[in-house]
Amino acid sequence: MPAVDILVFAPHPDDAELCCGGLLLKARQAGLRVGVVDVTRGEMATRGTVATRRREAAAASRLLGVHVRENLGLPDGRLHDNETLRQALIRALRRYRPSLLLTPHWEDQHPDHAAVGQAGLYAAWLAGAPKYDPRSARGVASPERLPYRPRQVLHYNNRYGIQADIIVDISDVFEQKLELARCYKTQFGPGGGKGAATALRTRLSDVRFFDWLRGLHAFYGYQAGVRYGEPYCVKAPLCVEDVALLCGGRLR
Ligand SMILES: [Zn+2]
Repeated sequence: MPAVDILVFAPHPDDAELCCGGLLLKARQAGLRVGVVDVTRGEMATRGTVATRRREAAAASRLLGVHVRENLGLPDGRLHDNETLRQALIRALRRYRPSLLLTPHWEDQHPDHAAVGQAGLYAAWLAGAPKYDPRSARGVASPERLPYRPRQVLHYNNRYGIQADIIVDISDVFEQKLELARCYKTQFGPGGGKGAATALRTRLSDVRFFDWLRGLHAFYGYQAGVRYGEPYCVKAPLCVEDVALLCGGRLR
């Protein structure tokens, strides 16, 4: 199983692109390996089906160039920070061994997002506990079970907004991020095709959705003095080795 540099825990197929697409695009441009773990299949979505969502996620994955993507198949709309969810996330962390984990903010209006945000944070710690969930013929010596902790956990934003600790300047990839979101034709914007005319209207399906998305990123960009920004929060402090970063230097 290939290791990745960055792993996203996404409650539903589309969250990785919608919430972290800019950071992921920049990571791919920098040659980093990116993985996405979708926790549910999105079967509770107001629009679309599990099959259409699977095809849309595959199209977005190709466009982004993700190295691994898997779906844990847990029940949409019924996620809780419990043993079932934590163990599934811990196993994913031990399989893919990312340096950076992206998981939702721990407070969110969508209970699935809050659950994955909180469980993801705990999973990042528990995955490094050697005796946690060691059931295997080879115990913790099994390559997929070796204890592991990501170096950094960032929590990403959903709809209602957060007070950002970090803003990633995504100005140069913002239009590409919109293209990633547009892969999810049944989810974002008014869409079209069979059943579109009679489908229930939501904010996500509103004709203004992509304008709102642009405004949201401009709002965070404004806070950082750039055109478009993507916000993230941390619980653990970030450690800076290169002081030039604090003087406007660039990440290398
Ligand atoms: Zn979601």
